[in-house]
Amino acid sequence: MLKTYHLEILQQSIGKKVSGHALEAIGAANIAQDAIRGQFGHDEYHFDNNAFDASYAYIEENRALIQPALASGDAESAWAAFGRLSHTAQDFYAHSNYLRLWIAQFDEGNAPPVREVDHADPTFLQHAELRSGKLYYPLEFLAYIPALKKYVLPLLPKDSHAHMNLDMPEQGFLFDYAIAAAVKRTDDEWEKTKALLNEREIAIFTDF
Ligand SMILES: [Zn+2]
Repeated sequence: MLKTYHLEILQQSIGKKVSGHALEAIGAANIAQDAIRGQFGHDEYHFDNNAFDASYAYIEENRALIQPALASGDAESAWAAFGRLSHTAQDFYAHSNYLRLWIAQFDEGNAPPVREVDHADPTFLQHAELRSGKLYYPLEFLAYIPALKKYVLPLLPKDSHAHMNLDMPEQGFLFDYAIAAAVKRTDDEWEKTKALLNEREIAIFTDF
């Protein structure tokens, strides 16, 4: 997803649950995952290339850093870890076909409204056809250049990131579902993380 959407998802999910300072730190770590050094050899940051297990493991590795950091009063490290794990969790909906599988269960024209998206339906989370976009470099890069996109897309396979992603509104109506699902998922990740903390640690984490 583009930076602006990652930040919007954080705002909508945990925007009122943490201080402005904490939200800023979480947001900075979240979007830093899309810097160039996080784009190569880090499928687990973005649920790319069918790296489902590695991405789930990456989320848990980061979650495991949070409580010890807060126990030693290091809020910055805790926010950075939550920023990283929230990025990965949000990218699941933009980079996998989860939402295409989910919406296919409804007859055409009968899809539930965006706010009713089920972001955690086990049927589709564990679906035999669940896939995420593959990165075919260097063509994948050229597909990001608006003037070249229409020439490059036909050259890329249908299982490519360029075809499958819901990173921006231009990718179609499912983009709105991807945002709504990512908001719900970020909320879940927040609650799951908070459940590991004591009162004092929660106060440091939320910065209230
Ligand atoms: Zn990403």
